[in-house]
Amino acid sequence: QVADTLAKEGCSSPSYDWFQTDSSVTIVIYTKQKDINLDSVIVDHQDDSFRAEILIKDYSYIIHVELSHEIEEDFSVRVVENVRKIEIVLKKKENASWKRLGHPLENHNSLILRKDTGLYYRKCRLISKEGVTHDTKLFCLMLPPSTHLQVPVGQHVYLKLTITGTEIVKPYTPVSDSLLSEFKEPVLLNNKYIYFLIKIYPAGLFTPELDQLQIGDFVSISNPEGSFKISQFQELEDLFLLAAGTGFTPMVKILNYALTNIPSLRKVKLIFFNKTEDDIIWRSQLEKLAFKDKRFDVEFVLSAPTSEWNGKWGHISPALLSEFLKRSSDKSKVLICICGPTPFTEQGIRLLRDRNFSKEEIHSFTA
Ligand code: FAD
Ligand code: NAD
Repeated sequence: QVADTLAKEGCSSPSYDWFQTDSSVTIVIYTKQKDINLDSVIVDHQDDSFRAEILIKDYSYIIHVELSHEIEEDFSVRVVENVRKIEIVLKKKENASWKRLGHPLENHNSLILRKDTGLYYRKCRLISKEGVTHDTKLFCLMLPPSTHLQVPVGQHVYLKLTITGTEIVKPYTPVSDSLLSEFKEPVLLNNKYIYFLIKIYPAGLFTPELDQLQIGDFVSISNPEGSFKISQFQELEDLFLLAAGTGFTPMVKILNYALTNIPSLRKVKLIFFNKTEDDIIWRSQLEKLAFKDKRFDVEFVLSAPTSEWNGKWGHISPALLSEFLKRSSDKSKVLICICGPTPFTEQGIRLLRDRNFSKEEIHSFTA
């Protein structure tokens, strides 16, 4: 049935094969899909389970086995785009010849709807934690060496902790370690570090526990989720980012990516809503970036400013939007990204629709 659905979408079902040398075992996955890249492959080797998940549209093709022999901790993942295949090269611990790859586990060699696969987690070590504002912190987590996972721009993951005997999960959006570090593909390829900007709510369920973790402790991270697609940047000329509070987090990678990879881009404007000046995340980095890159501009809007504030203030409103959302030309291709507390996002979408921006021109970030 899944194969039929895929066929209708112009795709055929993936398959796999494997071969070996004295020292290695290579698993080859024939994806039969265009646009496969390293973001499309998630590989984990945990305890006795070896699991590879290939993301194809709304489906996942899964290889899941208990390997017949032991392997070294690290492996390599390669995408051969022109023949649409993925190669995972495992290093044998011993030189023995393998008669079979392994014993099949749940969902092995099957293509299933991603929403039916459930979230898959791996334990990541807390590497560092540093204060950013009075209540937000930058957390750095390290993926295990036996995991290959890259979180695509605009997507989030779930973090999981066991709190008084119950597993609690909450979504968080990875960021780059800074706004000023250049976005370079090769650096990302082997990147084992994932950064998060997280606001600690003293009366919250999850964040106080996260804040209690010591360097070296573990947090589980899920596979990425989210509907944002890089293709939304195609031919883009004007990018407007409306962020409130930690709703800034998806904008970090979007900013870095757009400014580095979209040649058609003329203008990027961030309108950043916060309660007070002290709440503004990475203010000086944003100001430096605006100074460095003439296409980028930032406006801060405060909802509870002190009397010293002489910038913009208030909540999201028709007046603020008409002032800020000026296209670089009448027919320019525009994308507006919006993220923050639900009432902010909902009101923002309504106001944007009132200003005749189409649904395709608006991307809102939600769970
Ligand atoms: P909660 O227990 O949810 O409480 C949050 C606050 O609300 C506390 O002040 C609490 O006292 C108050 N509260 C709780 N329940 C009630 C109630 N019934 N009535 C009144 N007040 C109440 N956050 C980030 O910091 N960084 C991110 O990158 C990030 N990414 C996200 C991505 C997505 C897709 C989504 C949906 C959310 C994201 N969030 C992010 C928010 C995050 O998932 C959590 O909601 C947040 O960290 C709060 O979790 P908590 O369990 O600590 O607090
Ligand atoms: P906050 O309470 O500090 O508020 C920041 C600003 O949001 C305010 O200054 C105000 O301008 C605006 N705002 C707040 N409540 C509003 C309302 N009722 N109507 C209109 N505007 C309002 O924000 P915070 O504590 O940093 O919370 C950030 C929110 O963003 C959280 O709810 C979090 O779940 C959400 N978030 C979502 C994603 C995602 O991808 N969906 C990612 C990160 C954060």
